[in-house]
Amino acid sequence: MASQLDAIVMGAGFGGLTAAIKLKEAGFGRVVVLEKADRIGGTWRENTYPGACCDVPSRLYSLSFALNPDWSRAFSPQAEIRDYMERVAKQFGVMDLFRFNTEVEKAVWDDAAGLWTVTVKGGESLSAPVLVSGLGQLNKPGYAGIPGRETFKGDSWHSAGWRHDVDLTGKTVGCIGAGASAIQYIPEIARTAGKVVVFQRTPNYVVPRLDKPFSDFEKRLYRTFPALDRLNRWFIWQMMDLRFNAFKQGTKSAEAFKGLALKYLDEVVTDPVLKARLTPDYPIGCKRVLISDDYYQALMRPNVELVTEAVSAVSANGVQTADGVEHGCDVLVYGTGFVTTDFISPVEIVGAGGKTLNAAWKDGAEAYLGVTVSGFPNLFMLYGPNTNLGHNSIIVMIESQVGYLVEAMKELKRRGAKAMSVKDEAFKKFNVELQHDLTKTAWAGSCSSWYKTASGKITNNWGGDTATYRRLMRTPRLADYEVA
Ligand code: NAP
Repeated sequence: MASQLDAIVMGAGFGGLTAAIKLKEAGFGRVVVLEKADRIGGTWRENTYPGACCDVPSRLYSLSFALNPDWSRAFSPQAEIRDYMERVAKQFGVMDLFRFNTEVEKAVWDDAAGLWTVTVKGGESLSAPVLVSGLGQLNKPGYAGIPGRETFKGDSWHSAGWRHDVDLTGKTVGCIGAGASAIQYIPEIARTAGKVVVFQRTPNYVVPRLDKPFSDFEKRLYRTFPALDRLNRWFIWQMMDLRFNAFKQGTKSAEAFKGLALKYLDEVVTDPVLKARLTPDYPIGCKRVLISDDYYQALMRPNVELVTEAVSAVSANGVQTADGVEHGCDVLVYGTGFVTTDFISPVEIVGAGGKTLNAAWKDGAEAYLGVTVSGFPNLFMLYGPNTNLGHNSIIVMIESQVGYLVEAMKELKRRGAKAMSVKDEAFKKFNVELQHDLTKTAWAGSCSSWYKTASGKITNNWGGDTATYRRLMRTPRLADYEVA
């Protein structure tokens, strides 16, 4: 049975959007993007917490082929990024490729037919030769297994599901977690809440964001001279890529980066006790380096308390810590991050010979160049295993991956082939070398982070700079694939 589709894409975030545009441009316009929510945006649709904004400069956190001269600030707020994505989808005429409110449950590869059959909630199924996952790494909120969550009497929510209907004015708000999301909303809610209690397990390195609005003059300049915008984007990309050196253990750049963060802490936080509790004891970059112009400042407000005793449980009235204290709270916000190391799951992916992706990844997710997996023909992942970054824009990685996908589909068409599957030996060799490279990075340092599994395998981050990745992704190395 021939498919009416060229490809099925799962997820309408930056990955799904870029794939839809580039596949259509390449003549593979029979694409459907299945999205469980009701609009485009992915993480930029879901994370609406107060102060949500991108910690990568807007000029680089946007698609290279869809520059936006109208960014309001150096670091764009969430709604502006989500609106940009919708605008780009309309501009490139791909809106009709998206099917919203459609949640994928299962995808099964049929070797004989050379087709993926995808089943969505409700039972409908669709087939296409190529399956693309644009589900990303940060789509499943995690609650850190803290016991007693269901006993809390007040309102509570995860940072990725903000309850805008609850007025925090005058209330005592407990914020569990002090990561990238929390440091953005804590300063915001501290303005109106009666009291904010921040439960920090591990301090983070923080460097200034140096955010600023773009003037009308600058916007006009970028609109009139797109080449200037492009040049600036390229320059920011290069500068950020150079920072990769600071994410290698024992380098001078790492020392300098750490010095910058500690100097900032020293300058802003004057209380020596608070300063000590905010000083990390692991290599910089091991956890995501946070950027903020107002987090430390917020912690020094009289209505903000930093608690560093371990959270032992949530109770009916608040949060209990290991020292036996119960911290009374009216509202609880879980900024406890995401379940990051099982990637596409809970979508069940069944590859050649009935093998599931979960089984293939039982010792930790891995992929060849972050995009393909041995035993799973014609499955391409965007922002898949080992493609997250600590130093640059994920958009650069996604564009490289979509370029690779398009080249692969062109090759299949050119050869009249049904499928391509990465060879097991190429897959294994790539991952052995990658894990070796990663041992030299900060992520291998002595800290826990969402970049690695409980056993310490780094499953989320890329081990080099983005220029190297781009080079490797220019076109699929066919010797590493079985094409039939
Ligand atoms: P996160 O960085 O993983 O932070 C989770 C926080 O919860 C950490 O402070 C963690 O402490 C804490 N936590 C976990 N379990 C706990 C427990 N049992 N008791 C107390 N605290 C606990 O999650 P996130 O802040 O949502 O950010 C995730 C990622 O999203 C970021 O790294 C970033 O890549 C992305 N993000 C990006 C932007 C952006 O601007 N582009 C903004 C927000 C988020 P430990 O450190 O001790 O584990």
